[in-house]
Amino acid sequence: MILVLGGTAEARELAGALHNRGIAVTTSLAGRVARPRLPAGEVRIGGFGGPDALASWLAEHAVSAVVDATHPFAERISAAAALACQAANVPLLRLQRPGWSERPGDRWAWVGDLAAAAATLPSLGERALLTTGRQGLASFARVESAWFLIRCVDPPQPPLPRHHELILDRGPYTLAGEGALIDRHRIDVVVTKDSGGEHTAAKLAAAHERELPVIVVRRPPRVAMETVRTVQAAVDWAAHAG
Ligand code: NAP
Repeated sequence: MILVLGGTAEARELAGALHNRGIAVTTSLAGRVARPRLPAGEVRIGGFGGPDALASWLAEHAVSAVVDATHPFAERISAAAALACQAANVPLLRLQRPGWSERPGDRWAWVGDLAAAAATLPSLGERALLTTGRQGLASFARVESAWFLIRCVDPPQPPLPRHHELILDRGPYTLAGEGALIDRHRIDVVVTKDSGGEHTAAKLAAAHERELPVIVVRRPPRVAMETVRTVQAAVDWAAHAG
């Protein structure tokens, strides 16, 4: 059985492709989202309890290979997978979509983390579209000078910025939809992680059209491991490994 560490659109596509090929696949989800989009094949939900417990899980379930298709900002599960697969002697592949890159005319400010994004924001705008996800919003709680349109999948926990409105949505988003949202709320700065991929990229194009600044949080560094960028490459790898 192939274990896919999921929580991304690519992980869902991968599970579907493996399932269609008749390869047994189980997708693991953290359980953060109340009503996740479920992939084909088996699904298990919830943390494993750290690298040692994950290594035991791999052995107990006769896992032949693991594809870590988690989000580029999900650092702990990826580190745990690397340790667990080494301990259990199970092949591991990382499936990671490419990051976004600027086009001529883009006004992007790259920062190292959410705290740096919050520190940069007051110099760039007063009405922010904040799309960095539910976790880590506390970093923006002390920014008094800006109003925030916070968009995430499930309701976030406080502390949140004092001046804000919340939209619960999960995309994918369109250029027309993102442009209308930005115009309706008179957004003058966009804040995002460098998630990459198409599902959430329309806000960047909408900001580009309006010449708005975008604060982009850089991806965290990762341990080196065999990595592919496309679902098809991961399917090919898993078909051999499985
Ligand atoms: P994280 O910091 O790397 O993980 C925190 C803990 O959650 C892990 O130590 C693990 O618990 C558990 N976990 C995470 N992913 C898991 C998975 N696929 N299956 C089973 N347990 C998992 O991750 P995160 O940033 O909180 O993200 C959680 C999930 O949301 C990830 O699966 C990721 O793909 C998805 N996601 C994250 C982001 C983001 O911006 N971070 C965005 C979109 C989707 P144990 O230690 O108990 O095993």
